[in-house]
Amino acid sequence: MNQKPVAVIGAGLSGLCCARMLVKHNVDVVVLEAQDDIGGRVRTDHVDGFLLDRGFQVLQTAYPEAAAQLDYRSLQLQHFEPGALIRTEGRMVEMSDPWRRPSKLLSTAFNGIGTLSDRLKLAKLRWHVTHTSDEDLWQEAESTTQEYLSKACGLSSDMIDRFFRPWFAGVFLEKELTTSGRFFRFLFRIFAMGNTSLPAQGMGAIPRQLAAALPPSTIRLSTPVDSLTDSGRVRLRNGESIDCRAIVLAVEGPEASRLTGGRIRSPEARATSCFYYAAPQAPLSDAMLVLNGDNQGPVNNLCVVSNVAKSYAPAGQSLISVSVVGGSVSDSEDVEHGVRRQLKEWFGSLVDSWTLLKRYDIRYALPSQPAHFRDGVSLPVRLDNGIYHCGDYSETASIQGAMISGRKAAETLLADLSIAL
Ligand SMILES: Cc1cc2nc3c(=O)[nH]c(=O)nc-3n(C[C@H](O)[C@H](O)[C@H](O)COP(=O)(O)OP(=O)(O)OC[C@H]3O[C@@H](n4cnc5c(N)ncnc54)[C@H](O)[C@@H]3O)c2cc1C
Repeated sequence: MNQKPVAVIGAGLSGLCCARMLVKHNVDVVVLEAQDDIGGRVRTDHVDGFLLDRGFQVLQTAYPEAAAQLDYRSLQLQHFEPGALIRTEGRMVEMSDPWRRPSKLLSTAFNGIGTLSDRLKLAKLRWHVTHTSDEDLWQEAESTTQEYLSKACGLSSDMIDRFFRPWFAGVFLEKELTTSGRFFRFLFRIFAMGNTSLPAQGMGAIPRQLAAALPPSTIRLSTPVDSLTDSGRVRLRNGESIDCRAIVLAVEGPEASRLTGGRIRSPEARATSCFYYAAPQAPLSDAMLVLNGDNQGPVNNLCVVSNVAKSYAPAGQSLISVSVVGGSVSDSEDVEHGVRRQLKEWFGSLVDSWTLLKRYDIRYALPSQPAHFRDGVSLPVRLDNGIYHCGDYSETASIQGAMISGRKAAETLLADLSIAL
C-alpha cells in the first residue's frame, strides 16, 4: 500500500471539498493551510459579541453544489427578504420580487425606478433564466453584463444604473459590469430560484461543516507551502518537505500561478472594503439589502445584518455592514470618513451613535471573470507530475465555483488512482 498522502494545499472551500471527497474514498490526505484557521475567504471573526464575516457575503441556497454538499438544516440558515431597498434621490424605494411577494406587485411597479416596459423586460429575463438549464445558459452568446442588460434585454439606463449596477457591483465587485454576461445569467437564475441566506453562526460555519468530515489530524494550520519540487514533494516555508502521492493546489489564482511558475495564469483581482458598525438602534427594520441607486459616494451597498440573523449581534444591539467596491476601495482613512458622511446623509444623526467595530480591506476578494473568460483552451484540472488544481478562479468566482472545482479535482485524481467513484 502506498503510504504517502495526497497533499491538498489550501483549506478554503475548494480544498476542503476536494479533501472531503478523497477521504470519503479512503485516500490518505494532508491539508496544508497557511493561515491560522480554515475557510480561506469564508471566515467569521467574533468581536465583542458580534459575528463579523470577513467581508459582506451570503450563501445562495440554489447553488447546486452547495445544496448537494452542505447540510443546510444544521447551518440554521437565516434568509433575506427577497428584493432590495434602493437609496436614490434622498429616499428609500423598495424593489420587491413580485413572484415571491405578489402583494408588493403594484408598489414595485410604480416605484419610480425604470419604466413599465422595464418591468416586462425583467419578467422576460426572469422567465428565460428560470426555464433554461445551467448548461444551456453557459452556451448562450457572450457579452459583458452591461451589454447584455442594455442591448440584449433592452433595459433602460435608469433601471440598470439604479438597480442592476449597484446590485451586481456588490456581487462582481466592479461597477462597470464588464463581468461575463453568462455568469450574470447563471447568478440571476440562482437568485430567482432560491434564498439568499446567512448561517446563524456566520459564514465561517460553512467551511467548519465541510471540515467536520475530515479526521482531526488531516489539516495542518499555519503551514504555508513555499514551493513544489519536480519529484512530487511539497516544500514548506519552515524548511520541512513532504513526499506526496499527488498534490492538489487549492489556493487563490495568483498563488497558484506562483507555485506553478506561471503555468496557471494569474487572474486580475477584484477588491472590496467592508465596514462593520455596532448600533444601539437599527436604522431600518427590513431584512433586505440596501443599494446605492445614485452611484455617488463610496457606499455601494449596506445591510442591517442582525435584521437577517439576530445571532450576528448581542441582545439590544444591531450590526450594520457597509460595502465599498470599485474605484473607491482604498485603505485610507478618507474612505471611512466618506462612508460615515454618506451614512449621515442617509440616516441622519442616528449614525453618531454607531461604533466602527472593524474594517476589512480585501485586496484579492474575487478573480476577475470578464466576458469570454471561459473561451479558448482552458487549463485541465490535471497539470503534469501528479499536480492537480482547483479554486474559484478555475470555475466561477463564487462559493458554487470553489466547491465544484474541489469536487472535480478529487474526481480526476480518484480516476487516475483507479479508485471507483
Ligand atoms: C468579501 C467577499 C465576499 C464574497 N461574497 C460572496 C458571495 O456572496 N457569494 C459567493 O458565492 N461567493 C462570494 N465570495 C467568493 C467566495 O468566497 C470565493 O469564491 C471562495 O470562497 C473561494 O474559495 P477557494 O477555495 O477557491 O479559495 P480561498 O478561499 O481563497 O482558499 C485558498 C486557501 O489557500 C490558502 N493558501 C494560499 N497560499 C497558500 C500556501 N502557499 N500554502 C498553504 N496555503 C495557502 C489560503 O490561506 C486560503 O485559505 C466572496 C468573497 C469575498 C472575499
